[in-house]
Amino acid sequence: MKITIGHLYPDLLNLYGDRGNIQCMRKRCEWRGIEAEIREFQLTDPIDFAELDIVLLGGGSDREQMLVCEKLKTIQKDFKAYVEDNGVVIAVCGGYQLLGHYYDTDDGRIEGLSLVDLYTEQGSPRLISNIVIENELFSCPIVGFENHGGRTYIGDNQPLGRVKFGFGNNGKDGAEGILYKNVVGTYLHGPLLPKNPQVCDYLIKKALERKYGSADLAPLDDSQELEANRYIVERFC
Ligand code: GLN
Repeated sequence: MKITIGHLYPDLLNLYGDRGNIQCMRKRCEWRGIEAEIREFQLTDPIDFAELDIVLLGGGSDREQMLVCEKLKTIQKDFKAYVEDNGVVIAVCGGYQLLGHYYDTDDGRIEGLSLVDLYTEQGSPRLISNIVIENELFSCPIVGFENHGGRTYIGDNQPLGRVKFGFGNNGKDGAEGILYKNVVGTYLHGPLLPKNPQVCDYLIKKALERKYGSADLAPLDDSQELEANRYIVERFC
């Protein structure tokens, strides 16, 4: 079995080392004998979404998001078709905001991909915190760190989790991130997947199921990750 992971615009959308999430996906595949190919796309590269099983959009500053948003217009149709065909996407922070219709900043509107029904408005102060969220889809809480000026509103969409500690999408409605088809959007950045193997395996499983019809992931020894997770949950909740 093999999956191909596309990393979109790593030179611009790689705030706080989102690239580590790719390494995590690759390692957790390799440890199970699943081949994982990584393809990085720069702004000028054409993207054939039919060749991809997981797409990662990382975080970026407002300035970098503005640069990327021009390019996104040219891939919107293909990207949307990939999402509607249950393609797996993990989008973090600035990348998460770009999944939506727009991000309104003090310096103007950053147009998004409209892949999911959400929008973002800049607010003050920045929402900076450790964060713990919960969703019964996952065997344990998802832990991480958030740092965003944008407030995101997802309407009736399903969030990735409910906030137990921290701010989440907008600091008001208790929702964090979004789950739409096989798209996961979240403000948790930096080492989201190394800290949360349950989320990493969720993405790998969805990608394998889409490609091969079914997938049973062999369990891995996550005792250290789970111990760290428990420590964070006990510290903040
Ligand atoms: N520029 C966006 C914001 O501040 C996203 C930042 C990020 O990716 N950390 O809301």
